[in-house]
Amino acid sequence: MNRDFLRHLEKKLKVKILSVIRLYGGCINKAYKLETLRGHYFVKFNSSLNLFSSEEKGLVELKLSKTFYTPEVIMTGRYVGTYYIIMEFIEPDNIKDNFWELFGQKLAILHKSHKDRFGLEYDNYIGSFPQINSFEFKSVDFFINARILPQLKILENRLSVNLYSDFCKLFKLLPDIMPLEKASLIHGDLWNGNYLVNKHGYPTLIDPAIYYGSREVDIAMTKLFGGFPQKFYNSYNLEFPLVSNWQERLDIWNLYPLLVHANLFGVNYISQIQTILKRFSD
Ligand code: ADP
Repeated sequence: MNRDFLRHLEKKLKVKILSVIRLYGGCINKAYKLETLRGHYFVKFNSSLNLFSSEEKGLVELKLSKTFYTPEVIMTGRYVGTYYIIMEFIEPDNIKDNFWELFGQKLAILHKSHKDRFGLEYDNYIGSFPQINSFEFKSVDFFINARILPQLKILENRLSVNLYSDFCKLFKLLPDIMPLEKASLIHGDLWNGNYLVNKHGYPTLIDPAIYYGSREVDIAMTKLFGGFPQKFYNSYNLEFPLVSNWQERLDIWNLYPLLVHANLFGVNYISQIQTILKRFSD
C-alpha cells in the first residue's frame, strides 16, 4: 500500500497504523487488514470506481433489518484518485454448531421485509457494474428489464455472442414459471465469498448488492458455486417456506450472476448460460 495513502488513513482514523496485511479473496477491490493499538480495521479501495457509498448504504440497511451481523462502516472517502471504505474488521472464530440453521432462519426473516415494488430508491453495483434498480411492479419485468437485459447488452458489445433470441424465448415462458410473490429485501450477491464467521461464531454478511427482489434470487446464488449445507435450506423453509418447485427455478435466477461473471471474467461462463437457455428453448 502506498505510503501517502497510509498516512492519509492514519490521519482520518486518528491512530497510528502498526501493520498492514493484504487480504485476498475479493474480486474487484484491493483489501487490507490494518492493525492499530485501538484494534483492527478492514479497508478496501478502488482507483477508478466509487462503489463504496452504495456498499455502505447496503450494509446499513441490512443492519437495520436486525437479522444478520454486518460490519460497522467507519467511513468512506477519497484520496487523490482512490476511493475507499473503512470498516470494522471481523475477527473470525470457530463456526457454532447451529451456524447453518441460524443462517437459514435469519435469511428467511430478512426476506420477510417486503415492499410492493421490485427495485430500490438508488442504483448500486454488482461486481464492478452498475446495478439498475428502477422500480417495477412485477418480478418478471424487473428480472428482464433491470437485471438480464443490461448485462446482456454489455456482453454482446464485448464479445461476439448473440444470446438475445434464446433469452427472448425464455422471457415468454417466465410469467408461467416464476412465482407471484411480494418483493423481499435481499442481499443480492449471496455467494460463498460474501459471508464471514464473526467472533461469536455466527454468520455475518458482507458485500451486499441489496434491492427488493425475488427471495429465490438469494437462494439461487447460494447454489451457484457449490451450495450451502442442507441444514441451511431446511431451516429457511421452516421459517418461510419457499414456493413449490423452487429448485427448478434456481438456474433461471442464476442467469443474472452468470451474465455478470461472463462480463467480468470472460467466455468460460457462456456455455453454462447456453446450457440453461437450451432447456427452455427446445
Ligand atoms: P471485493 O469487494 O473485492 O469483492 P471483499 O469485500 O470480498 O472484496 O473482501 C476481500 C477479502 O476481505 C475477502 O477475503 C473477505 O472475506 C475479506 N473481508 C471483507 N470484509 C471484511 C471485514 N469487514 N473483516 C474481515 N475481513 C473482511
